[in-house]
Amino acid sequence: MINVTKPFLPPKEEYDTYLQGIWKREWLTNNGPLVNELELRLKEYFEVPHLFYVSNGTIALQIAIKALGLTGEVITTPFSYVATTSSIVWEGCTPVFVDIHPGTLNINPALIEEAITPRTTAILATHVYGNPCDAEAIEAVAAKHNLRVIYDGAHAFGSKIGTGSVFHFGDVSTLSFHATKLFHTIEGGAIVTKDPETAKKIAFMRNFGHNGPEKFSGIGINGKNSEFHAAMGLCNLKYVDEILQKRKELSERYDHMLRRLKVQRPSVLSNHTANHAYYPVIFEDEPALLKAIEALHGVYVYPRRYFYPSLETLEYITTAYPVQTSGDISKRVLCLPLYHELSVEEVDMISRALLRAQNY
Ligand SMILES: *Cc1c(COP(=O)(O)O)cnc(C)c1O
Repeated sequence: MINVTKPFLPPKEEYDTYLQGIWKREWLTNNGPLVNELELRLKEYFEVPHLFYVSNGTIALQIAIKALGLTGEVITTPFSYVATTSSIVWEGCTPVFVDIHPGTLNINPALIEEAITPRTTAILATHVYGNPCDAEAIEAVAAKHNLRVIYDGAHAFGSKIGTGSVFHFGDVSTLSFHATKLFHTIEGGAIVTKDPETAKKIAFMRNFGHNGPEKFSGIGINGKNSEFHAAMGLCNLKYVDEILQKRKELSERYDHMLRRLKVQRPSVLSNHTANHAYYPVIFEDEPALLKAIEALHGVYVYPRRYFYPSLETLEYITTAYPVQTSGDISKRVLCLPLYHELSVEEVDMISRALLRAQNY
């Protein structure tokens, strides 16, 4: 059986070494030395001044929205994981959906301006599948209308704009280190910002607002993560460049094997580098996608319809939005298996099953 993803696990001895240190120190959570070390290493890796390791990518988004003091309407993409939208609603703001670009599948910057109202305070865009957003265009509109920008970078570990990390952009970026992501700490996430004032707020908010044992600076929540999770991150970070390279090679193998398959692949803007976190293919129509899924199930391969459905269809979204491209793509897109341990032979087998389903 081959599933769409399989979490990476480091050699167990390497994790054991960290466990010995935890047992010696008896320091399990609350900004421990391994959490600090992971934050330091990630700051170096992305070349960012402030990064906070938190319990997951959803709390990262919620703290980001809270730390920027967003109210009213937040312009966002309907083509993302549900957490992008639910975080906006959870924080008492109203998501306003703007359609995606049919090539990159990221929010279409050309459509943002017409969605801005006097109540708009921010843009929350996702680097979908690790394909970087058109940050320059998004931030030009944001600057013109004095809006804040948050990037949901849950997929974007290792993605680049120019020669630098995508996390150099926006007021705040968030990451997810969930077990299914390219780099993971079992559960976990991070918040990145270059603004020292925002960083200070995030630091308080992550830890109940504590400013010392008996003083509080504003409202907070428990967004902390543990030494055990940080240890997994430190183990995995050692392998992340290998993981990125392997995914690139497997993706290129799919590209080659599927060159005659009638599917479209997302386009990447020039000077932008995607991280091959996923391998999405877009079929001509939904029946073609369903036929492909059936063919893959026949050889015990379980791809995933991701993202489906488009987020404007959530039951708690009561306004209608003209986001046809997202609605259309979400019905036709399928993520094929892609993970570190997947072999070239398995990619070939999956590809042949897909080709057979289209009568090649
Ligand atoms: C995984 C994911 C999240 C949520 O991250 P968790 O760590 O699972 O809470 C948010 N946004 C996107 C786009 C994701 O893929």
